Amino acid sequence: MSEVPGVPPAQQLLVGLARLGQAIRMDAWRNSGPYTLSPLQADIIAFLDEQAGPRRQGDVVAALASTPPTVSDAVKVLRAKKLVEGVRDPADARAVVVRLTPEGEEEARRLGAASQVMSEAFAVLSEADLAAMLRGTAAVMKGLQDRHAIPVSRMCLTCRFFAPDAHPRDAARPHHCNFVDAPFGDAQLRVTCPDHQPADG
Ligand code: SF4
Repeated sequence: MSEVPGVPPAQQLLVGLARLGQAIRMDAWRNSGPYTLSPLQADIIAFLDEQAGPRRQGDVVAALASTPPTVSDAVKVLRAKKLVEGVRDPADARAVVVRLTPEGEEEARRLGAASQVMSEAFAVLSEADLAAMLRGTAAVMKGLQDRHAIPVSRMCLTCRFFAPDAHPRDAARPHHCNFVDAPFGDAQLRVTCPDHQPADG
């Protein structure tokens, strides 16, 4: 009997992830909503929504691995659409920070709901598969962050409140979040969390 030729799984995974990235981008264009948001404009709204408060434009540039002119243009458009506004930075009166308007917060909620296409595609996965994918994705993200290959995310794996495998006898919820003082499992791992504080901060 012949054998299926071996291909490194990481290589196949990279191809698959690239296809998923394309699908997510295409979905963002389809889901541009009432404000006809570009994917970058949607990313800016999602980023500001994740933050505990207003952020400088430079933070947006770093978080989205973009460039100052590109983000500046997108923020101008979002301001014209009245989804974000600029306010004085309380920490530095000469600086301006951007934040979501109430309309922007509403748009963030719409963007936060998975589209029908994505919901249907992910529905084929079991809870265990979803948890394993989330755990693997978070681990690869951390590896890339450690190598300065992607912007830093406010994720459990880099959070000072994260205690991995603190409950080894609880297979469903082995980890502990010291912020909310509760056990949790891989399925609840966060790759973006408003309560995150850097482990080395
Ligand atoms: S505070 Fe958020 S990021 Fe930190 S461990 Fe808890 S859930 Fe994870």
